[in-house]
Amino acid sequence: MVRWVVAILVVAGTGGVAAAQPAIISVPPQPAAAAPAAAPAAPAAAAAVPLPPARPRTPVKPAWTEPRTFLEAAGPDFKSAEVTSEPSECRLRLEAIAVVTPLPRLIGPGACGGGDMVQLEAVRLPNGSRVEVRPGPVLRCGMAESFAAWIRDEAAPRVLKDGSALQRVSVADDFNCRGRNRVAGARLSEHGKGNAVDIRAFTLANNKTIDLTDMHAPQELREDMKVSICARFTTVLGPGSDGYHEEHIHMDLAERRGGYRICQWNVRVPPPPPPPVAAVPVPPEPPAKSQDKPQEKPPERVAMTMRSPFDGKAVPLPVPKPALAQLRQRGKRKL
Ligand SMILES: [Zn+2]
Repeated sequence: MVRWVVAILVVAGTGGVAAAQPAIISVPPQPAAAAPAAAPAAPAAAAAVPLPPARPRTPVKPAWTEPRTFLEAAGPDFKSAEVTSEPSECRLRLEAIAVVTPLPRLIGPGACGGGDMVQLEAVRLPNGSRVEVRPGPVLRCGMAESFAAWIRDEAAPRVLKDGSALQRVSVADDFNCRGRNRVAGARLSEHGKGNAVDIRAFTLANNKTIDLTDMHAPQELREDMKVSICARFTTVLGPGSDGYHEEHIHMDLAERRGGYRICQWNVRVPPPPPPPVAAVPVPPEPPAKSQDKPQEKPPERVAMTMRSPFDGKAVPLPVPKPALAQLRQRGKRKL
């Protein structure tokens, strides 16, 4: 790899880039002692030397190009005048209701990353108890604040109404530099900006787990969660949305033109149980095979039998054919 970079730099410095690039990229590396292509080789030697893999003739665009300046690496939203060691107003508000670890600015690749990032560890409830968030999601401060507020003001009180305190929220994904739905080449996901989090389940103080995408989990609780999440976040995707969110709930704070919001989560319920067995008419059992024979109508043998023209009399035997020699003898006598 290093040899390639050096080669490209040397050629680009001595001649035109347009003329040099195709030659560099299309020629595969050859060992110095390789025989010329036209020279005939012995079959055994030819079989021993593997052919180099075919290389693309056109240059492939790299997935990520190394930034050349700090400004390019930091991203378009970086403003040096805003750089300070003081916590942001968002972080001050967040630290009042949550346990967080501030992170340095996350850089790239591409448009991924951003400033004012934190790792959310736990949320403080008004009664002084904590709700753990595991694994602690890395989020932009604004997203972390909304997520923590939702846990504190919506999720925890609602779960407590069902009889047990909320202890832990299970996270499926957080900051992750990737395309939407992990599709290569797709538009950058809000996860790449630390602006989205995926959650899977609640763990209660009684060790019970409530999986938010489980159709057997309490339906009313899941309906409440859907309403509260969709009111707070601009994108909510769950089961039934697009096939990529059957096992977790995605929430983000994407900003769209006209304040457009997406709330797609089908709170599924189990299918109705089958009707009771007694209500289904039971077909009569087929009679046993041994009882079939007496009930069967005997075959009408008379109707199927040809009536004899002799009416029971003795059937005369056919007249035996005379031998050929006897016939000739008779003929001679007549003649
Ligand atoms: Zn997601």
